[in-house]
Formats: sequence, structure tokens, C-alpha cells
Amino acid sequence: MSPQGQNTGRRPELRHDPVTNRWVIFSPARAKRPTDLKSKSPQNSNPNDNSSCPFCIGNEHECAPEIFRVPSDPSDPNWKLRVIENLYPALNRNLEGPCDEKQDMGVPGLAMGGFGFHDVVIENPVHSVHLCDMEARDIGQVLLAYKKRIQQIATVESIKYVQVFKNHGASAGASMSHSHSQILALPIIPSSVSARFEGMNEYFEKTGKCSLCEVQAKELLIDESTHFISIVPFAATFPFEIWIIPRAHSSHFHEFDCEKMVDLGGLLKLMLRKMSLQLNNPPFNFMIQTSPLQVKESELFYSHWFLQIIPQLSGVGGFEIGTGCYINPVFPEDAAKVMREVNLQVEG
Ligand code: AMP
Ligand code: ZN
Ligand code: ZN
Repeated sequence: MSPQGQNTGRRPELRHDPVTNRWVIFSPARAKRPTDLKSKSPQNSNPNDNSSCPFCIGNEHECAPEIFRVPSDPSDPNWKLRVIENLYPALNRNLEGPCDEKQDMGVPGLAMGGFGFHDVVIENPVHSVHLCDMEARDIGQVLLAYKKRIQQIATVESIKYVQVFKNHGASAGASMSHSHSQILALPIIPSSVSARFEGMNEYFEKTGKCSLCEVQAKELLIDESTHFISIVPFAATFPFEIWIIPRAHSSHFHEFDCEKMVDLGGLLKLMLRKMSLQLNNPPFNFMIQTSPLQVKESELFYSHWFLQIIPQLSGVGGFEIGTGCYINPVFPEDAAKVMREVNLQVEG
């Protein structure tokens, strides 16, 4: 480790992000230079290791039941993507209804039945093709599949929040190397979603404005598209964390139309390719940070969805687990510069 601040000329700083509602410690003393913070274990999936992969085209019978495919004809063997039930679901789609009285140890609200939906989106029929290899309009199709599934799930009244996420690479939590993402629909609003909601509300109460409509991109900006900007957030929790934010105010991801989804597909592809080039093809997660399904009219003013990408470059330690407060060795403006400076174009 270098002496405090010596290699970047910066002093440590605490920043509060009004969106995540979280304090982050920026500590250059803990850093290698931003460009040194590359993945040590790049995610190199073996393109030939597909013989036993249930997600590969032709192995559909090894999967849990299909919900829908694109194109939509279930008998068309040449599918482009499939949404299926998870074979090992975290929550059970057949458990709707009140829970067993004994479950909550006599304290109302302490426990409930594990009802919910846990689906897998197989993004491509071919084992070796990753999301960042796909064309923007095909990534747009994946995003539209998320939207369609969220709309189906939203008709179930007891579902309160739908989390779309992708794990890429073993250290990002992936157990399957075939390109896929997941949709987990919950009967509760998770605490980090409530904290985000409260943070955005507090900002709105103070300023009368939406925190994400007001984002001052400038030196935090990476790239832009017609409908989105990509930035490193002002108080990024993780090194090289990226947010893709709709320019126009919108509370729910599933409100967006086909044209915007294709536009988002292009910017997402660009961010994944830049991350791969600059950070040595790291394992990563992305999450669609949308609003709870049943929000009040008044809450729509300050809730603004975004897509969060986190390369897995440093582990989470005891301090973070103990406090919920993170230490990030890379200042967001330095990370944005590293990402901005790659000269990459993404087509159609
Ligand atoms: P990950 O662990 O993030 O790579 O996500 C892969 C998901 O696919 C896991 O949640 C598994 O439970 C699920 N899964 C594994 N095999 C199958 C299968 N044959 N059919 C449906 N889902 C599966
Ligand atoms: Zn496969
Ligand atoms: Zn907004």
C-alpha cells in the first residue's frame, strides 16, 4: 500500500449518495492507481464446455418449464431467447396465501410464506455468445423480455418488488456460464430498495426535484445515447460502478417502449465492452433498480429507475458487513475518465 494519498494527490473523503442513501469512504491510500485495479481473475468461460449445458439450444428438455420464448411460437426450434422457471427457485410460485400461524413465533409480521417467482432469462441460444457480443437490437430484445415478464408478474397483487439481475462469472455469483439473467419477484420491499426510496424522497423534500433528473454528469459522464446517459455515480459504492440513467423522468423500467430498449441495449453493450477492455474482462453484476410495483401517485415524482453495473474487483470485508458503509479506493471522476477515454463505437 502506498503512503496516504501519495499516488493520486487526493485526500480521503466521505460522500453521501442521495439515491442509495449510503455513505461511502473514498480512500486513495488504499488504492492502486485506477488503471491498476483490473480484475485478477478474468471471466474466461470455456466456449467448448457446452455438452452438458441445459441452457444450450437443443437441451430445452433439461430445463424447468418455459414461460415464453422469442419468437413467441413455442414449437419454433430456432428461438433467440427463452424465459424459463428456475429449477432451484429461491421462492415458490405455488405458495400464495396466508402463512402458517406458527411461523411468526407469535409476533405478527415476523415471518411469511416463501411465495414469489424466480425465473431465468436465457439471453442467447449459443453457449459461447455473451451479452456484450450480441447486437444492440438483440440486447434490446432481452430487455423487452424483462419488461414482458415484469408486466405479467405485476398482475399478482401480493408481489411488491421485482428485481432483475445478472451474475457474470463465478466470483460475481454465477453458477452457469451460458449467458443468462434472472428475475426474482418478492412479496416484500427489500431494505435497500426502501432506503433508496427514502433517499430520493429526502432529496425531493429538500430541493423539490428528482435526484436522478438533476444528476450533474460533467466529469462523471462516460457516454450518452438518445434516451440515456452513463455515469460513475458521485458516491459510487464500488470501484468503477456504472449507472445507466434514462434522461427523461421515469419510475418504472417496464414503462419503456421498444425503441428505448434498443437504445439502452446499445449503451449497455458499450459499457460492458469498455469494462471488459479497461478492467481485464472482470466478473460483474448488473441490476435494474426500479420502483416497487404499487407506488403512490405522489411517490412517482421522485422515484427514477436506473441500471446499475458493478464489476467485481474487490471483495466485501468485515467493515462493510458491519456498518453498511463501503470503502472505495477509486474516486468516481477518475473512474469515469478511464471509461470515457476508451475509443469504442457500438453499432446497431
Ligand atoms: P447463476 O447461479 O447466477 O449462474 O444463475 C443460474 C440459475 O439457473 C440458478 O439460479 C439455477 O438455480 C438455475 N438453473 C440451473 N440449472 C437450471 C435448469 N436446468 N433449468 C432452470 N434453471 C436452472
Ligand atoms: Zn450453454
Ligand atoms: Zn427523475
